[in-house]
Amino acid sequence: MAELADLQAKLKLLSDDYVAKLPAKLEQLVQMRDGLVQSGWDVEGFENFHRSVHSLSGSGKTFGFADVSVAARNLENYLKPLLQAKVQPDQEQREQIDRLLNELKGLNSVREKADDTVMVDVSPVGVAVSVPRRIYVVDDDRELAAELKVQLSYFGYQVSVFHTLDSFRLVMQQGFDGIVLMDINFPEDSLGGVHLISELQQGRTAPIPVIFLSSHDAIEIRLEAVRAGCVAYLKKPVNLGVLIDKLDELTSTQNAAAYRVLIVDDEPELANFYAGSLEQAGLSVRVVNDPLQIMKPLLEFSPDLVLIDMYMPSCSGMELAKVLRQIDTLIGIPIVFLSSETNMDKQLAAIGLGGDDFLTKPIEPQHLVSAVISRVKRSLILRSFMVRDSLTGLLNHTAIKNQLDHEMARARRQSKPLTFAMVDIDHFKNVNDSYGHPVGDRVIKSLSRLLKQRLRENDVVGRYGGEEFAVILVDADGETAVRVMDDIRKDFAKLLHLAEDKEFSVSFSCGIADIAHFSEASKLTDAADRALYQAKHSGRNQVRLADAKSD
Ligand code: GH3
Ligand code: MG
Ligand code: MG
Repeated sequence: MAELADLQAKLKLLSDDYVAKLPAKLEQLVQMRDGLVQSGWDVEGFENFHRSVHSLSGSGKTFGFADVSVAARNLENYLKPLLQAKVQPDQEQREQIDRLLNELKGLNSVREKADDTVMVDVSPVGVAVSVPRRIYVVDDDRELAAELKVQLSYFGYQVSVFHTLDSFRLVMQQGFDGIVLMDINFPEDSLGGVHLISELQQGRTAPIPVIFLSSHDAIEIRLEAVRAGCVAYLKKPVNLGVLIDKLDELTSTQNAAAYRVLIVDDEPELANFYAGSLEQAGLSVRVVNDPLQIMKPLLEFSPDLVLIDMYMPSCSGMELAKVLRQIDTLIGIPIVFLSSETNMDKQLAAIGLGGDDFLTKPIEPQHLVSAVISRVKRSLILRSFMVRDSLTGLLNHTAIKNQLDHEMARARRQSKPLTFAMVDIDHFKNVNDSYGHPVGDRVIKSLSRLLKQRLRENDVVGRYGGEEFAVILVDADGETAVRVMDDIRKDFAKLLHLAEDKEFSVSFSCGIADIAHFSEASKLTDAADRALYQAKHSGRNQVRLADAKSD
């Protein structure tokens, strides 16, 4: 947790820095006002004055000065209509401005919060929660329960089956560690599954992870299930792919890579403070102070969410959002405005221009963190429907091709090797013909899992077509990739697949190409495809590296 301590120290420094600079900022406002009096309130000077007041109203509370925010907001609200009317303030108005400015300045010496109030109290999202791969299936349908047991154990889960609620309750009393797959309708009680889970959840500090499996789809029953504390509700007949994905997600010891957030705010202190708050919660953050410099970090950092300040000197947040929305590849990235703008019409206008949401400054760090995390999560789910294959959860054909362009650009920039591998299951038609399509699906799924498990986290795996996969091995040259893929090939060929009571095994062939020899994406994929073809023709169940000469 050294990192957490570092971040807290960093936040503390930022806050101290703000405190140290506050008197000078307030003094600067006074000087700006004096300048305006001399110049006869020229429009540009007036705008600068307004912007500085505006930014104080946004930042004060964030750093623990709520009354600075309030006083600045009062002054800002008074200045705004004058500025919009483009008239010089008359004597009375100038006096009011002075009064409000003096109120603001008077707060200079008051530090109303203790030093540590800027600390963010959220548990880091980066902490892994490990759940054992044990599954409790509770269903009075014996056939279905037995089938689930076979299929789940095939994916590495240990499964215990219970046919009655009473037998399951008994086991639960002796302690429990795993995930429950619970039927809802039992002979003794049509909502028996839900009732037992509600009962078992009572008084527990950590809720039991429960997935209900039910043939009911009525919203009333789903609601009961949610109230009983389920993590998912799957309709019968159960789609095994969906169930496995859910289980994998629940048992994953590896946290999803930290969410990436790009902050665009012309005020460095505030931007850094927000960045620190988000980082402390485990997110990964980049800051851009000049909106016109956004493209590079946008493409290289590839954020999951962009947080944009509304009022910036060179380009407004709204304009920036509009620009980003005109770039097709960025369409899926949520844009959230962060601003002291409280006018509802303006907020809606900003959303109309392509923003997804509006957070109002000043915002407490905790609120910022939870608002950002919930938006990123939701958008990742939505995006995954567009880019993921439903059977395997791997990237689909289009997504892996996009990803390849992205990874190739990165590899080139960093002068790192990269290889592309195509994998095709051998004689897969025979599997379908002999054992049926559902068994074929399971074989596809098992290869997908094996690839995911065996490759590194940064490697990219996709389902290229029916029984064809594509893998991007980052930071691996041709020889390394051949070694890695060949190890996986050997293990895959050893796997025993089950079809009813028969066991069988399957192999795959693989073609690999290296960017050192094929520097364009289309040439790279063609070369891997040719190498795959050669592997097939040399007898299958082997890995081939594309010949450099054929570029
Ligand atoms: P080769 O070794 O030459 O690759 O032979 P093959 O039989 O694997 O190749 P072929 O391309 O002739 O057949 C692929 C089969 O994969 C045909 C198709 O019905 C089947 N298939 C494609 N997608 C799926 C799928 O999602 N599920 C199942 N079960 N089968 C699929
Ligand atoms: Mg094949
Ligand atoms: Mg094929």
